[in-house]
Amino acid sequence: MTARIIARIIDGKLVAADVRAAVAAEVATLGFKPGLAVVLVGDDPASAVYVRNKDRAASAAGISARTITMPATTTQAELLAVVASLNADPEIDGILVQMPLPKQINTRAIIDALDPAKDVDGLHPINVGRLAEGLPALTPCTPRGVMKLLAHAGTELRGARALVLGRSSLVGRPMAALLTAADATVTVAHSRTRDLPGECRRAEILIAAVGRPEMVRGDWIAEGATVIDVGINRLDDGRLVGDAAYAECAAKAAAITPVPGGVGPMTIACLLENTVIAAKARRR
Ligand code: NDP
Repeated sequence: MTARIIARIIDGKLVAADVRAAVAAEVATLGFKPGLAVVLVGDDPASAVYVRNKDRAASAAGISARTITMPATTTQAELLAVVASLNADPEIDGILVQMPLPKQINTRAIIDALDPAKDVDGLHPINVGRLAEGLPALTPCTPRGVMKLLAHAGTELRGARALVLGRSSLVGRPMAALLTAADATVTVAHSRTRDLPGECRRAEILIAAVGRPEMVRGDWIAEGATVIDVGINRLDDGRLVGDAAYAECAAKAAAITPVPGGVGPMTIACLLENTVIAAKARRR
């Protein structure tokens, strides 16, 4: 029997379109074209698709997008040289180095080499530290997008019990920092967490960013919770599913994001927004 969906579906495509339109409107008033550089190393097909989409979305918003493609054999020194030249380039306001990088390159060294003022992925330690301190910072695009979806859904954050499932630098950790800054009471769960279903059941807001297809089951969800599913998992049969078992969770939650069409579209929209924030701050 299929579970009955009672949750409100949070439409990420709609919210992302609003963000992109707002970015385009703001760019039109700036008097200059913000510049975004995306660096793609190697020939991972999924990364190539992401980069193409970023490039298109940036151009549509009036941002000048430059994609730098480098071979899979690129050395760390070669990539550091490209980062240094983009750091120094006055036309470039935002730099995004597409992850994952080939094995011979130390990802940490590349992130540390970015100019924090151009770090539109929000991964440089200066931005991470500022976010942790609750100071203005360039923040990672996916958790930033999740905050917008929660606002759109009208979810009360102040004092709410939020559970972030996952503690990666790109999603889980910055997500927890943003929710804390918004006065939620935040628990971070991960692969060593005892009684994960029990932790999830206590949450009024559940953010799943774990990369395990449909791991979060319906009986892990508190009645009336808001569920944000960051996961994007491709199954062997070609289907794309999230980290939450959608129908089961939607039967318990008050609001839920679908996969695809939930968090996914927000990431690029927030990248454009970060580029404009960086451009305005640099040229102030
Ligand atoms: P990572 O693999 O970097 O992190 C996964 C986290 O989940 C880790 O903290 C890990 O714990 C935890 N975890 C793994 N297995 C379990 C388990 N069995 N029980 C509890 N916790 C577990 O992934 P990302 O954060 O980069 O991405 C998470 C998901 O979000 C992926 O599906 C990814 O595709 C998707 N994603 C979507 C984006 C979008 O635009 N919508 C953008 C970025 C990611 P530990 O730390 O203990 O190892």
